[in-house]
Amino acid sequence: MFKKIVVFTGAGISAESGLGTFRDVGGLWKKYNIEDVATPEAFNKNPSLVLDFYNQRRKQLLKSKPNVAHLSLAKLQKKFNLVVITQNIDNLHERSGVKNIIHLHGKLTESRSTLDNKIYPINNSELNLGDLCSKGGQLRPNVVWFGEDVPNMNNAIDEVKSASIFIIIGTSLNVYPAANLINYCLKSQRIILIDPNPTRINGVEIFAKKATEFVPKLVDDLLSSNN
Ligand code: NAD
Repeated sequence: MFKKIVVFTGAGISAESGLGTFRDVGGLWKKYNIEDVATPEAFNKNPSLVLDFYNQRRKQLLKSKPNVAHLSLAKLQKKFNLVVITQNIDNLHERSGVKNIIHLHGKLTESRSTLDNKIYPINNSELNLGDLCSKGGQLRPNVVWFGEDVPNMNNAIDEVKSASIFIIIGTSLNVYPAANLINYCLKSQRIILIDPNPTRINGVEIFAKKATEFVPKLVDDLLSSNN
């Protein structure tokens, strides 16, 4: 049976595809307040502003492509049971060919009914006021806003517990509950963190490098190892 590798990614893996991170210099939170665009309260108060913020993110996504870090990870599927757990709302892991992906914070390419949580694809790049679900309710982006539940968290925890290797890429580990995933690793698991500005954690192999610089090498090493 294939060994399981679980990869946990954050905004940093998509930074070199041209999608801004949140907390870096020039990051999105320097340009917007979280409270104004990524909370349920913001959507109630000013839905047009929130929809416009995500419309801009979606347009940027349409112009970007998976980078070599995304593409290398997909190669792990040749030899390992690969699960990618991502905090990202972009679809660059899907477009790089990864089959098993858990989106903790939802997807930019989907909308959700404000009446019954039913999910709909967003066929063009925009979601606007007046775009309604089949029951007549306003559609919102299918993303998890600050203060909302993370429905896929339990699935993600189960995957982490059963992995042989846990690889963390490009996350400041500031957003909870996602950042708690590392606490479900067992002592026997190898844990690797790749981030140019890494959070120091005991027992973790840390590589203070950009994703495109280090992920391809790590993947080659894992594929050529005898495990
Ligand atoms: P964050 O902005 O808090 O942290 C980004 C991390 O990426 C930092 O630690 C930074 O050092 C690192 N980084 C920067 N450039 C890198 C590179 N080239 N290679 C590797 N790492 C690099 O982002 P986060 O921890 O993912 O958490 C914040 C939230 O941001 C998430 O909930 C996510 O939904 C959201 N977000 C998503 C996207 C996206 O979908 N692409 C973009 C921005 C924010």
